[in-house]
Amino acid sequence: MIMDTHMHTCFSSDATMKLQEAIAQSGELGIGITITEHMDLAYPEPGQFIFDVDAYFREYGPYRNERLLLGVEIGMRPDCLEDNRKLAKGYPFDYIIGSVHVINNIDLYWQSFYEGRTKKEIYTCYFDSMLECVAGHDFIHSLGHIDYIARYAPFADTNVYYEEFKEQIDPVLTLLAKREQALEINTKRPLTPDALRLLVPVYQRFAELGGRYVTIGSDAHRASEIGRDFAAAFDFAAHCGLRPVWFQEGKPRYMRRD
Ligand SMILES: [Zn+2]
Ligand SMILES: [Zn+2]
Repeated sequence: MIMDTHMHTCFSSDATMKLQEAIAQSGELGIGITITEHMDLAYPEPGQFIFDVDAYFREYGPYRNERLLLGVEIGMRPDCLEDNRKLAKGYPFDYIIGSVHVINNIDLYWQSFYEGRTKKEIYTCYFDSMLECVAGHDFIHSLGHIDYIARYAPFADTNVYYEEFKEQIDPVLTLLAKREQALEINTKRPLTPDALRLLVPVYQRFAELGGRYVTIGSDAHRASEIGRDFAAAFDFAAHCGLRPVWFQEGKPRYMRRD
């Protein structure tokens, strides 16, 4: 089965998709889905990017089955480590994505994060912070969108070039590989040939360092985005020597195309 392992419905502050829309779309595509609502504890705008987990399980629990799993996307930050751990252990999530959205209490989406700093400084800080977060968050199943910074940085060329940041990226990949955690292929940024060319060295390095698993997620915020670029992601994973998996009750299961 193919499983789109990353999407947001109306429990996430920035999404309005209804569960029924996601179910209908995934049925049409013939794939499974994992819902992964945003939970960024201590988010700088109070009440944003957090959700009522009891209500989530109460409302979505009855729809849970082999093809519809319930996960969460945790915003990792060092000062929230213990609360994030409590959340992860306190609920029966199938799957936990760990992501870096906020550094030093500033959302990377906000342009103030970038003011007066070079790309080199910003990206070094981003990967250093990611390493600190991954080191602490040993309970995540997959590291979300490793190139997230490239979505919003204001530089003419926002791409992450592995060679330029390998000193920062390698320790992150090493740690994930050692713990058998997965690295996500996030298809929100279109997997064009150019984008794939830049991602190859990162994912191949992960495989070289002993990494085995990738998860594939559209990061859909609306139904039409579910399953986006999955064929390209599958080919990419095979090319890099990695196995696409999804997580059910915290255990990896192999994804197959047929
Ligand atoms: Zn995210
Ligand atoms: Zn997301």
